[in-house]
Amino acid sequence: MTAPTLWPASPPVCLPVHGISQQFPVHRVYCVGRNYAAHAQEMGFSGREPPFFFLKPNDALVAIDAGGGTIPYPSLTQDLHHEIELVVAIGQGGQDIEVTQAMQHVYGYAVGLDMTRRDLQMQMRKEGRPWDIGKGFDASAPIGPITPCAQAGAIEQASIGLRVNGEVRQSSTVGHLIWNIAETIAHLSRAWTLQAGDLIFTGTPEGVGAVQTGDCMVGEVSGLQPITVTVR
Ligand code: MN
Repeated sequence: MTAPTLWPASPPVCLPVHGISQQFPVHRVYCVGRNYAAHAQEMGFSGREPPFFFLKPNDALVAIDAGGGTIPYPSLTQDLHHEIELVVAIGQGGQDIEVTQAMQHVYGYAVGLDMTRRDLQMQMRKEGRPWDIGKGFDASAPIGPITPCAQAGAIEQASIGLRVNGEVRQSSTVGHLIWNIAETIAHLSRAWTLQAGDLIFTGTPEGVGAVQTGDCMVGEVSGLQPITVTVR
């Protein structure tokens, strides 16, 4: 009797970096919940809670290039929501990182979508169960190329927005983050050892809503490469 043949290891997940040919190898994908007050309020909270985190599998990323890309309408949901987010790309890991040192750990930034099966997430939330089925499904994290810090400009004051079929759905600024980039990195690094290649989806501003098959989303953060994503 011989054991069945095994399969090749999965290829590493890598993202393009704007302006260079080398790619950014991804380690983990962390996400921050309710990090803009007006979004926390639209989800039924006060907007003053401490930060909390969840993860997506790194193979849920879908790299979107300048020509745009597509994601499938996922199974099991009737309420697929868009959440436009600034994504922080970590270039240097660490534990217990101080707020004053945190920005030195950032390699760059990207525009990402934390796509959410809202009906499933709300059901899990109500039952006190994990959010994975609502947040960590296949192709749930479309993301644009990473722009290195030096080319990204004043990201802390950047505008962030999403249009669906040309209509503005989300529009805010990164300055409205409850926990800013440095504070988010400091908090995360107390709970996990951050590593080079980690991504942090920093949370979405208000205006989340449903998309349907055929809808075209354009997500933008000023200073970064925009993304165009069609639901197929
Ligand atoms: Mn989110």
